[in-house]
Amino acid sequence: MPRFLLLLLLVVTATGAQAQGPALIAEYGAPGTTGYNSVIPTPEAVLGYRIGERHTTPAEAVRYVQAVAEASDRVVMAEHGTTFGGRPLVHAFVASPAQHARLGAIRQQNLRLSEAPETVTDAELAAMPVVVYLGYSVHGNEASGTEAALLTLYHLAAGEGPAVERVLDEAVVLIDPLLNPDGRDRFADWANRWRSPTAPTADPQTLEHSEPWPGGRTNHYLFDLNRDWLPAQLPESQGRLELFHRWRPQFLADFHEMGSESTFFFQPGIPSRTNPFTPPSNQPLTGTIATYHARAFDQIGQFYYSEESFDDYYYGKGSTYPDVNGAVGVLFEQASSRALERETRSGQLTYATTVRNQFAASLSSLEGVVAEREALLRLQRDMYREAPAIARASEVAAYVVATDRYPQRAAELAATLHRHRIAVHGLAQSVEQEGRRYEPDAAFVVPVDQAQARLVRALFERTTTFQDSLFYDVSAWTLPLAFGLEHTGVTRADGLVGDDWTPPNPGRRVGGEAAYAYLIPWGAYHTPRALYRLQDADAIVRVAFEPFEAAVGGARRRFGRGTLVVPVEQAEVSASEVHRLMDDAVADDGLEVIALSGGLTPEGPDLGSPSLRLLTKPTVAILAGSGASAYRVGEAWHLLSERMHVPVSLIDPARLKGLDLRRYTTIVAAGLSRLDEPDTEALKTWVQGGGTLIATGAGAGWAAKAEFLAATRDEPTPDSTRRPYATLNETRGAQQIGGAIFEVALDTTHPLAFGHPERIAVFKTNEQFFEGVTPGGHDVGIYTEAPRLSGYISEPNLARLSGKAALMAGRLGRGRVVLMDFDPSFRAFWYGTDGLLLNAVFFGGLF
Ligand SMILES: [Zn+2]
Repeated sequence: MPRFLLLLLLVVTATGAQAQGPALIAEYGAPGTTGYNSVIPTPEAVLGYRIGERHTTPAEAVRYVQAVAEASDRVVMAEHGTTFGGRPLVHAFVASPAQHARLGAIRQQNLRLSEAPETVTDAELAAMPVVVYLGYSVHGNEASGTEAALLTLYHLAAGEGPAVERVLDEAVVLIDPLLNPDGRDRFADWANRWRSPTAPTADPQTLEHSEPWPGGRTNHYLFDLNRDWLPAQLPESQGRLELFHRWRPQFLADFHEMGSESTFFFQPGIPSRTNPFTPPSNQPLTGTIATYHARAFDQIGQFYYSEESFDDYYYGKGSTYPDVNGAVGVLFEQASSRALERETRSGQLTYATTVRNQFAASLSSLEGVVAEREALLRLQRDMYREAPAIARASEVAAYVVATDRYPQRAAELAATLHRHRIAVHGLAQSVEQEGRRYEPDAAFVVPVDQAQARLVRALFERTTTFQDSLFYDVSAWTLPLAFGLEHTGVTRADGLVGDDWTPPNPGRRVGGEAAYAYLIPWGAYHTPRALYRLQDADAIVRVAFEPFEAAVGGARRRFGRGTLVVPVEQAEVSASEVHRLMDDAVADDGLEVIALSGGLTPEGPDLGSPSLRLLTKPTVAILAGSGASAYRVGEAWHLLSERMHVPVSLIDPARLKGLDLRRYTTIVAAGLSRLDEPDTEALKTWVQGGGTLIATGAGAGWAAKAEFLAATRDEPTPDSTRRPYATLNETRGAQQIGGAIFEVALDTTHPLAFGHPERIAVFKTNEQFFEGVTPGGHDVGIYTEAPRLSGYISEPNLARLSGKAALMAGRLGRGRVVLMDFDPSFRAFWYGTDGLLLNAVFFGGLF
């Protein structure tokens, strides 16, 4: 901003004020504020520095919120979760003391807008406070948000005058000052560490400005938390969703940063890229509130834009999820200084300025929300009033989901739906559809006609037609496909909907204590966890390469390929320890464990047959560093370590040539796109010596190119059509597969597919097309003839994908190579294909 204007503002705010508050507030001016209560500590008083002078760490931010909550009768602090890194997730409620006294009643009344919208009259709306959620810095290295949160908290706690009083009286403000403490800690530590306190530099090339891989954007396991609002698999989101649905805000602001050369962005964004399940009245109201931001930025001379980029299609983002919950979600994007000060082509950008802008947007949001209070409350009530009509417009009345074959995945899906306040019921009577019978004790039902009708449809429907062919994020997330569960839509739900569904515990022992051996069928979600626990205890475990029958409880029962066989008499482990490990598999992993008293089978190989192959305990490393996608690395790490309790070494791909790779049986190249020649050679030598390389997503393309496996790729013919310059982006973008769901036929006789169904849904985010590895190797998974299940893909690409290889396996020297051209553990909610990665880890050395 021009210096004279800054001085003018300083003068204006200083006159007549008891105290002008922190410098950045004074700089912005905070219109309508007459002064600040000196009882409330400023950030400087608690932290010892002024906001904008350094990067506030998560611990410091929490300390400040606590200090304000202790001093103020307007603020209450509470926790809503703990991160993987053990850091608390906190929020502050801000309201007038009178509103605080009746907070419980306010919440109950507010919930009626969504739960009993018919009962809320216009007169009631006129008297209700609006609930506002201000969420800051979900991306840890977009740091200015959290600083602005602290200023906003101070301003609301200490501010005096009509503007603050109106907000306190007419709104309940939930401030979530740091949505991603683990990521912020990495970033703040880095930025603070490489700065000279005496003579800082604005050079964008200095370390302070260039974070090392993986950066602070993501959480502990390298997930983008601003994609997890819908999958809801991570503790940060689970805690936040609980808070969100407890309060059902009418407005949510999500504070981000973008490239340093940009200006400032606020929504509405691009109308054609709004999800069709967002109510049509949402965009105009977002546009009305945008006029408040525009006015605030006009006053301080800050440039901005509001109708391009950043779509509102994927409900997994913080500014889009509210739209399907009757709220207005607004995305703010501030040009990032990345550190304290930074050269840009339009002049020096300081951290303090970015914080000031986020603070300005916080205040303009509050001003707009209070002014549009009734319209916001009405939007939410009316959206929920429309739920029966949304359900009537659906061809499907209810979704029936099978729970028998994969009960743990079904329980996880139901838990995910519950996080979104979607009701899940037992199936009251059997249904036959598409040649499959769903039985009451083996399925649950999700009726569309419920308060969250829009969200049910958005989560269950398969989308194959789109208004726009460009996507800022994925184009599909159909949940029952992601969880790999058989399901169907029924057109009439009469008589089908039973009581609330609670997942049965599938864990059980069959046949008590075994005299000879135990069998554990392969395929249940947590079986690999039980297997690793057994192997870690030095137990001998074999795996069946052929199906067989065994006498169980006087009857013959068939066991498929992949069944684990655990002898009771072991060299290293006592029989009592084997029995105890089986108790763990039942109790902790929810598995079915079958006791056998002898090894002779009525049909198929006997238990001592060579087709029951001995398993070795995997020692796993993941290539984690520059050249690998941090998201894909994090997904594999999280699956193995967090869910399966398998320790993983994260090794730097740039140091491979100097490492002793012989200590690993298995190395995962998840989303690896490049590797230097000497490191590639070191990896190849290791595979040739007997290692198993698993390359997923873009990593499959890299491994094929580096000739780990002779997998030919079908390269597209370049499009030579001459087109107007202005349409180039659109034309190129339309050929991208930003993320869609495809059907793959699996060869379930191959160990990589043991325990899986013959047709499986995979999630693909790249444009590689493999012809396959036959005859040199084995094409275990092939895209079906019409592979698109849900999501956007151009017609030419869809035609090319048909019949291509998705999962390939082959030998290199004494080792094995597995290529998956999809992302098996995408965003931690692709339970349906996690097993393919785990099969490769546990059975990869056997084919
Ligand atoms: Zn961001």
